[in-house]
Formats: sequence, structure tokens, C-alpha cells
Amino acid sequence: MEIDVLVIGMGPAGSGAATAAAAAGAKVLAVDRKREIGTPVQCGEVIGRSLLLRSGLRLPRQAVSSTQDHTRFHIGRELTISNHGEQWASVTVERKILDKLLAARAAAAGASVLADSALTSLSMDGDRVMSATIRVRGVEVEVEPRTVVAADGVHSTVAKMTGVCWNDEDMVARGVEFEMVSKRPLPRCMQIFLEEEVGLGYGWIIPKGRDRANVGLAELGLRERSRQRAMGWIEDNPVVSSYFDGDSVLEVKTGDAPVPGFQGGPTRGNVLYAGDAAGQTLAFVGEGIIPAYLCGLVAGEAAALDPDSYDGALREAMGEELGYGGEVKDAILGIWHDRTLDARQRYLAAGLLMSEAVPPGELEALAGTEGLDLAELRRMLSGSPGLKVSRMRRA
Ligand SMILES: Cc1cc2nc3c(=O)[nH]c(=O)nc-3n(C[C@H](O)[C@H](O)[C@H](O)COP(=O)(O)OP(=O)(O)OC[C@H]3O[C@@H](n4cnc5c(N)ncnc54)[C@H](O)[C@@H]3O)c2cc1C
Repeated sequence: MEIDVLVIGMGPAGSGAATAAAAAGAKVLAVDRKREIGTPVQCGEVIGRSLLLRSGLRLPRQAVSSTQDHTRFHIGRELTISNHGEQWASVTVERKILDKLLAARAAAAGASVLADSALTSLSMDGDRVMSATIRVRGVEVEVEPRTVVAADGVHSTVAKMTGVCWNDEDMVARGVEFEMVSKRPLPRCMQIFLEEEVGLGYGWIIPKGRDRANVGLAELGLRERSRQRAMGWIEDNPVVSSYFDGDSVLEVKTGDAPVPGFQGGPTRGNVLYAGDAAGQTLAFVGEGIIPAYLCGLVAGEAAALDPDSYDGALREAMGEELGYGGEVKDAILGIWHDRTLDARQRYLAAGLLMSEAVPPGELEALAGTEGLDLAELRRMLSGSPGLKVSRMRRA
């Protein structure tokens, strides 16, 4: 079968790519190996409201489980920072519904969309994919695409088959979370935890209403995920354990989040990589749903009209935002590996960077002679608009 654009993977990146390529007039085949697109969920399901508005996506009510009006950072069990304002408001979605909805929009735009259809092999001529074998519901089908969009996630099969690597293993955070029922009403905010007990990463409570939330953590530098470790943290942290215990788990969600920083629109031969397959996340938090969708749109249009335009178009559309995310992530890593700081200073500094209380370039001055003195920090931060800094109330 000859087609213009073959999209591998129907997460947000693949759906964006298939929608844009079909809208640009291409003959598109989009496949996903999952039997049900969107399931299982491997995601905290939260979207920053400003990014959502920018994406132009209109979400039907059933795809939204809750909205939050601010974000609260708990840093080292001794400092909390609440960030208000548009960029700190968030929407929790139901990925099972959202991913299927985005795939349906791709189909409505004219793409052929096939679940339960896995890419199993590629036939190459140098860097170019000449044909792809797809196992469609158990039957092997050969496809000859003009261009391929690899939107097949952090451990991209296409990248492995073509011998490229956009996601260094050291830049992949291992995540474990539980969808849990809360013992008491949750505040209308997303809560982020940076502390020694979590390591190089962060923990979270992402509400899915007043009495339910995704609760978990993700860390860099681990080879394996541990559900026991994540539950141990939930039961040990005074704030988290005041809401949740291990007796009310509705779903276990695990997955890997790439945070290499912005690498533009990676292309090899006639293959364009998009979404997690290209590490296109907001690197300091690993937020990838909307970035993947937006990058997918750019990749899809380029795949249909002019593959060489992908990198330039993506840098223009997403470079500033994703580049900034990479800059903050690099600053956090720099602090983390700075052996002149003790553990407490490291997570305090990481928290200040992540909560954007301090821009990446200014942290050094702050850390200097003060040694990240907490009283001094609080004095400085209390002047920042949009922030409320307080001592954490111990449970
Ligand atoms: C624990 C965790 C929590 C997260 N929380 C958040 C969050 O709260 N907010 C946020 O914005 N982001 C979050 N992320 C990141 C977010 O989930 C991803 O960035 C996003 O899903 C990327 O979309 P994608 O389309 O690139 O990849 P994916 O959503 O991973 O989709 C890739 C698709 O490719 C398919 N595929 C793979 N191989 C093949 C093959 N050989 N043939 C056919 N199909 C194939 C897969 O089945 C899959 O459906 C989180 C990630 C993790 C791991």
C-alpha cells in the first residue's frame, strides 16, 4: 500500500501529526499498537492552563476531571511556595478520554486510524524508510510511505530500528503514581514536593476532583521504577499522608518521562520524530501532553508538505518555551551535582528554580555567601509578585 505519511503511535504527538498531515491533504495512515488508544494511562494527566489555551484545544467536559487555580511547592519539608496567576493554574484531564478524542479528530480530518496495529519492521535504504511492516490485528501489512512520523513514545521503536537515540537513558525520569481516594477534601491546587526523600526529581498530588488524585513521584538516575518506594514516600511525607494511605488505590500508573531538553525537530532521512520520541517535553517538569500535541501538529504538516521545514518550523513554534524548560532543568542538574552544597541546600535551590521563584541565571548569586539561608530567602521571595511563601504547617 502506498501512502504519503505513516504515523507510528497515537498518543498526543501522533494524533497531532495525523490531524495536521491529513488537513494538509496527505494520504495518512496512523497506527498504534494499543488495543484501546489512551489505555493504560502512564501520566499524571495535568496540563498547565496557559499551555492549553495556547494549543487551541477545546476539551469536552468528560475529558476534564478538575481544574486548579494555583500550584503549591513543598520544598524540603520546611518551606512552601504558592504560585498564583495564569501560568500556575492547571487542568486535570482523563487521558483515556483525551487521547481517544484526539485520535478521533485525526480520523475526522481524513487520516486512517488503526488501533491494535504495531510497527514490526522497517526496510531501509540508507537513512530512508522504503517500507514498513505493520501487524494490523494479527495480520502483517506492508506499507510504502513517502514520509514517516515517529510519535511512538520515549522508548521509540522507530528510533531503535533506525539506530538513532534522542533520549539518553540518563535523561529519562522513572515515574510511579497511584490514583487514590483522599481521606479529606483536597485544596484546588496542584502540589509539588522537592525533598531529599524523593531524590533528583519530585513528588506530586494532582487532584482529579476534591476527593481523588494522582499521587506519585518521578526521579532521574534510576534504572528501575519501584512501586514500593513510591508508596513508602506517600506514607512517610507528612502532607501527603494526611490525605492518602495505601488502602484506597484505584489505579497504578507507571512510565518513563524524557527530559533531554529541546533538540529542535529531529529528522533522519524521511523520518520525523515528534513528542516523547524526540524528548519534546517541558524538561524541568516533564510536562509533555500539550508539547507533544503541538510538536506533532508541526511535524505532521511538515511531513505532508516539506519535511525539510520541520526543524525550523518547530524552533519557531516551540523553541522559546521548550528551550526555557531545558535551561531550568540544566540549572537544577548543575545545582544537584554541585558538591560544595549540602543536601538541604541542593533541594532548596532546586525548589526555587522549579517554582520559578528564582530564574536560572540568578541562583548562583543567591547561593553565594548566604549559603541559601532560609530567612534571607524568605525575605527576598516575599517581595515577588504572585508568590506566597510560608513555613510548612507540620501535620
Ligand atoms: C509517570 C508520568 C507522569 C506524567 N505526567 C504528566 C502530566 O501530568 N502532564 C503532562 O503533560 N505530561 C505528563 N507526562 C508526560 C506525558 O505522558 C508524555 O509526554 C506524553 O504522553 C507524550 O505523548 P506522545 O504522543 O509523544 O507519546 P505517548 O503518549 O507515549 O504515545 C506513544 C504511542 O506510541 C505507541 N507505540 C509505541 N510503539 C509502537 C509501535 N511499534 N507500533 C505502534 N504504536 C506504537 C504507544 O502504544 C503509544 O500509544 C508524564 C509521564 C510519566 C511517565
